[in-house]
Amino acid sequence: MSGSPQRADVRIDMRSDTVTKPTPGMFEAMLTAEVGDDVLGDDPTVIRLQEEVAQRLGKAAALYVPSGTMSNQLALKAQTGPGDQVVLEDGAHIYRYEGGAPGVLSGVQLTCVPTADGLLDWSMVEAAINPLNVHCAPPAMVCLENTHNRAGGRILPQAEVVRMGEQVHARGLRYHLDGARLWHTHIATGTSLRELAAPFDSVSVCFSKGLGAPVGSVLAADQQTIDRAYRFRKMFGGGMRQAGILAAACLYAMDHQMDRLQEDHAHARALFEGLDHRQLAVNHPVDTNIVIIDVEPAAEDSSLLAHLERQGILAVSFGLGRVRLIPNLENSRADVDLVIAALNQWPGTGNQ
Ligand SMILES: *Cc1c(COP(=O)(O)O)cnc(C)c1O
Repeated sequence: MSGSPQRADVRIDMRSDTVTKPTPGMFEAMLTAEVGDDVLGDDPTVIRLQEEVAQRLGKAAALYVPSGTMSNQLALKAQTGPGDQVVLEDGAHIYRYEGGAPGVLSGVQLTCVPTADGLLDWSMVEAAINPLNVHCAPPAMVCLENTHNRAGGRILPQAEVVRMGEQVHARGLRYHLDGARLWHTHIATGTSLRELAAPFDSVSVCFSKGLGAPVGSVLAADQQTIDRAYRFRKMFGGGMRQAGILAAACLYAMDHQMDRLQEDHAHARALFEGLDHRQLAVNHPVDTNIVIIDVEPAAEDSSLLAHLERQGILAVSFGLGRVRLIPNLENSRADVDLVIAALNQWPGTGNQ
């Protein structure tokens, strides 16, 4: 046994951008936050966060919730009924990583559209939307994800997002965006959050990823949708009392830790460019902060992860033959160079 490093020995954690810990300035903001009881609706810091996010995303209202999963699931619950059809891309977080919640919590039927690169266009969605007849689940909603996690942090082309929205709305359907990493699209493209959110009825954004806050997501939408989501949040067990302590960290993150996402993007790009691509393929454009390595042969992915871990580097398996790395707030440029060196030293198959 080579022995995997103890937690305390781990030097570089790129499993996710969720591993980011509160910075000293963020802790200070949490410590001095004015709080109330948010279930009773009078926590001033939560109210301020909701207003600020609604304003930045150009929506009428917003709701602070414990997780991105709850935020997405509230969007479904508030805007669909049992038996409805929801169309989304096959790699969507809502479908892959939310524990089967759409079936359990909303009773909806998902139609998952496979793509080569995570990017849906209207013709694919149109073909997947059920006809209105007695045989089919009635279509209710189309969901997109920007950036697209499973596709490697891909940025959705905004022109297609807009075009699809017009068609979705022309059919009377709701249009939801899982914008867990919408900040990254904003920082990478310079397009305002308001413009990115405009085509959608509802938008979910996460604070516990690259922005570095410890807890929480916000769902933004029209007032009626948020009123319904508010009721279901309580039902799902997502009502929190002195949540202002957490909301303060989110406000701090938006004001002080958003622009630095470009550092994470530069680190992901450096990782991509530094790799010896003869051995380790990255089969997607590195648009933002996510690098997914395709390992050949696929069964060697655990060997690559073990090799990294022996050097104190943590990444995650992202399905058979795939290893995901996300440079984040905790990583320096020197860390990135160490990760590149470790990856390029991987003996690969047949050499160990
Ligand atoms: C992380 C993530 C979420 C929400 O995850 P939680 O762990 O529930 O906060 C939703 N969508 C995408 C694309 C994500 O990456």
